[in-house]
Amino acid sequence: MGRLNDKVAIITGAARGMGESHAKRFIAEGAKVVLTDRSAEAGQKLADSLGPNALFVHHDVTDFAQWTNVVAKAEAAFGPVTVLVNNAGILGPMAQTVELTEEGYHQVCAINQDSVFLGMKAVIPSMLKAGKGSIVNISSIAGIAANYGFPSLAYVASKFAVRGMTKAAAIEYGGRGIRVNSVHPGFIQTPMMVEATDEEGGDALGLIPLGRIAEPEEVTALVLFLASDEASYITGSEHIVDAGMLAQ
Ligand code: NAP
Repeated sequence: MGRLNDKVAIITGAARGMGESHAKRFIAEGAKVVLTDRSAEAGQKLADSLGPNALFVHHDVTDFAQWTNVVAKAEAAFGPVTVLVNNAGILGPMAQTVELTEEGYHQVCAINQDSVFLGMKAVIPSMLKAGKGSIVNISSIAGIAANYGFPSLAYVASKFAVRGMTKAAAIEYGGRGIRVNSVHPGFIQTPMMVEATDEEGGDALGLIPLGRIAEPEEVTALVLFLASDEASYITGSEHIVDAGMLAQ
């Protein structure tokens, strides 16, 4: 018996990194999964490798019309959507505020923040049809504290916003069976982290009480729990997976 049997999930940014890890584990736990990403080739290849319970849909998370298409394809293939993992995100320019361009600021907010609104707006009607749902919004430790140096003000702003939207939506839809939570990873071994530091984590290692970078699967374990019915009494809250960084 899988922990996600009968769930129909949409996972954004699923072609690589943590999204890929979530998709693999969700399939292994019995879910039907729609993987979406703007990287079509990698996303399609991954979905093909995961078998008939996986479907890839090409998707830019900043475009509401494309969200509508993703939900329509998910419902046609598997039925109403019961899990949404808003995972796609970018680090964006690593510039301080004066050097950060308006374009760079808006791009980060569009992909990391606006997409979470658009995703919930598009998917919640499907969850209401199902009579239940779990939304997991991927924020960051930068959505709780801003003092780790390299992300820009735009990244921090977008990840704080995800945390706030999570709570607002949880309150709005709790009475209709939909739970909404945010996840706040620390340093996780993915292409994004390598972009920010290097393969070994660079200077970041000294900031981590457990003394190592996490594997994506260690975040997936938390996302899986929140998506599953095991988390039936958990909504509107933030869940940190950071090896103790924010404890300092
Ligand atoms: P990643 O390895 O860069 O993977 C992100 C995926 O999202 C990529 O396939 C990317 O495609 C896709 N994507 C980006 N913009 C998109 C868009 N507009 N529409 C659709 N797909 C898009 O990143 P990750 O490290 O797995 O991060 C996943 C999430 O965790 C992000 O929200 C990130 O902010 C958050 N996070 C990561 C860390 C960390 O240490 N890695 C820590 C805290 C929070 P492209 O390849 O085309 O860009």
